[in-house]
Amino acid sequence: MRVRVLVEAPQHSGLTGPLNYLAHQLLLPGTVVRVPLGRRTVTGVVWDALADEAAQAWDLAQLKPVIEVLPDLPPLPLAWRQLIKFASAYYQRGLGEMAMMVLPPELRQLDAVQWARRFKRLNKALAQPADAVDAPEALPELTPEQQVVLDALAPPASLLPSPGGGAAAPSSTFLLWGSTGSGKTEVYLRQADRALQAGRQVLLMVPEINLTPQLEARVAARFAGRHIVSLHSGLTPAQRLRNWMLAHLGLADIVLGTRLAVFTPMPRLGLVVVDEEHDPSYKQQDGARYSARDLAVYRGLLEKVPVILGSATPSLETWFNALPVADGGAGRYQRLTMPSRVGQGSMPRVRRLDLSREPKPRPGQEAPPLAQALLDAIAERIERGEQSLVLLNRRGYAPVLQCSDCGWKSECPQCSAWRVFHKVDRTLRCHHCGLTDRVPRACPNCGNLDIHPVGRGTEKLEEQLAQALPAARVGRIDADVTKLKGALEDKLASVHAGEVDILVGTQMVAKGHDFRRITLVAAVNPDAALFASDFRAAERQFALLLQAAGRAGRDASVAHSSEMWVQTWHPDHPLYAALARYDYESFARQQLKERQSAGLPPYAHLAMLRAEGKTQEAAQGFLEDAAKLVEELAAELGGILLYPPVPTAVQRVANIERAQMLIEADSRPALQRLLSRSTETWLALAQQHRPRGLVRWAVDVDPLAI
Ligand code: ADP
Ligand code: ZN
Ligand code: ZN
Repeated sequence: MRVRVLVEAPQHSGLTGPLNYLAHQLLLPGTVVRVPLGRRTVTGVVWDALADEAAQAWDLAQLKPVIEVLPDLPPLPLAWRQLIKFASAYYQRGLGEMAMMVLPPELRQLDAVQWARRFKRLNKALAQPADAVDAPEALPELTPEQQVVLDALAPPASLLPSPGGGAAAPSSTFLLWGSTGSGKTEVYLRQADRALQAGRQVLLMVPEINLTPQLEARVAARFAGRHIVSLHSGLTPAQRLRNWMLAHLGLADIVLGTRLAVFTPMPRLGLVVVDEEHDPSYKQQDGARYSARDLAVYRGLLEKVPVILGSATPSLETWFNALPVADGGAGRYQRLTMPSRVGQGSMPRVRRLDLSREPKPRPGQEAPPLAQALLDAIAERIERGEQSLVLLNRRGYAPVLQCSDCGWKSECPQCSAWRVFHKVDRTLRCHHCGLTDRVPRACPNCGNLDIHPVGRGTEKLEEQLAQALPAARVGRIDADVTKLKGALEDKLASVHAGEVDILVGTQMVAKGHDFRRITLVAAVNPDAALFASDFRAAERQFALLLQAAGRAGRDASVAHSSEMWVQTWHPDHPLYAALARYDYESFARQQLKERQSAGLPPYAHLAMLRAEGKTQEAAQGFLEDAAKLVEELAAELGGILLYPPVPTAVQRVANIERAQMLIEADSRPALQRLLSRSTETWLALAQQHRPRGLVRWAVDVDPLAI
């Protein structure tokens, strides 16, 4: 018979659908097979089989046969195939590309013999019982808010298949909107327990790999004796395959993972949790640019299981979906609220420090990193044995080096960006293309010896704080110090052990960590986001500051003296005013109003056509022609706006020029129709533009940054 098989085929190859092969045995859809492709043998997934009559109409003799089937590997389930189909259509990528991208890399490389060997070893590992823990931990008594939320979440009965074996109770998507430290995780764990009790599997998603060990420990302590596996890009290929198999075979009870985990086949799935659902990390930023949060919601509907989206600062899209229709929202999700922190903990008091009232630095001098009042407040805490967290979202020592004589600056030769000065190893590093060189001894332009850093990054802030408060132990956490495996864990442990008085960090430290002794959080330079061109900048900044504030006052004994300082030139800005009251709701209301009048998401739907070329003209030229090709269709569909192509914010990276074209639509179906009818045309167009210097192009549906 004839089968159609998905194989990995890059989009530009034009092979976007399944390919035809000949099978000498019955192959169920979802079966993982090895097939010939050109001169290679590749792994593929059987998409469907054609009925005999249809197959006969074909010249079967022309088809190449399937080479082998990976033994003992159950076919990928219908729900998995449906999710792949949806994601491929929605994000405008080939089916085969999508399917292969989400399978463990190792699975794609093994032939049947290698797989059989691997499976044997795996089977031994599977036979081992989950780690037993002596005594299960005692459950905390639920807070009244947690109780209300858990009552509202689907009761256990709805998790069981109905007697006829048909669908479970109507599925539901919930937004759990709870302050940081309100005990959302406890709610996830209780709800997970219900699902486990009902014999189901649980998918728990976190935005960042850094946050998985913490949650893993908590989950392991709670569910001793259960099979818990993690899935993220930090695993070795062998670990990833093993964990994926455990989930796929239905042996793992809980799968804990980052965005790629959303595609894990789980035959007994009963609950999906997306923690910190607003986090940008859920959106893949290259290749198939999918949103794992949105796919999780779709998957929940598909498999009829509840999905809990948790956040203290939901994305405005989610907020809008959870807002009742009567309040101008979409009323699609059920909103559950937990405003209070657990125990006597309260959110720190917000203090806006007006930088315009600070003494002016002398000419030629740089303003100190922290105002005196803030330094005093930190010093006070050190005396009391408490810790402070100082946030600066810029790593390195200084963002640029400059010659005092001729004005030379440390520009990256390959990008339209400055190279950042890193003092630790005296290098200039480009944060866009990675180009790294030793710092020159003299100005490369005029030979002047006086080249100096301008501006401030976390390295310099760390140094300056150590100078300003000589008795303090200053630590730093950012992407530079945590590059080595285990470095972040070590750093965090030293903070928890009280070996650090002041922790300097980027947004990396603002998220999730349960610091008990931090009583002061300071945002040193948060103003830039107020005037950024990206319409989501304010939303992101509000979330970040609130998250950061949430690191302080987690312990009731110190909560009353906790403070969040914001150094700003705009103390009256509505964003800070809302932050000072921890009033996400009014912040969201005001943002939604702006979005509505500007025709932005969630009131409009966006796609970004991105192009990279050898020249800016090449990139923009492609976009212009792409727009021309679909103008008519756009007009016909109606409510679609094609913006003119523009260079991206950082226009050149690694000597490649970048441009983008925004497509805005009133309705999602219209946008989807436009894209699905245009992608083929654009593929062909791209081929024509390659000789003219087009390097790459892509569609980004629901882009995060514009
Ligand atoms: P969130 O996920 O909302 O930030 P967590 O679930 O991490 O909050 O809870 C914050 C802290 O409160 C954790 O240390 C957790 O162990 C504790 N906690 C949560 N629920 C309770 C409860 N019902 N009783 C006592 N402590 C709790
Ligand atoms: Zn010079
Ligand atoms: Zn560069």
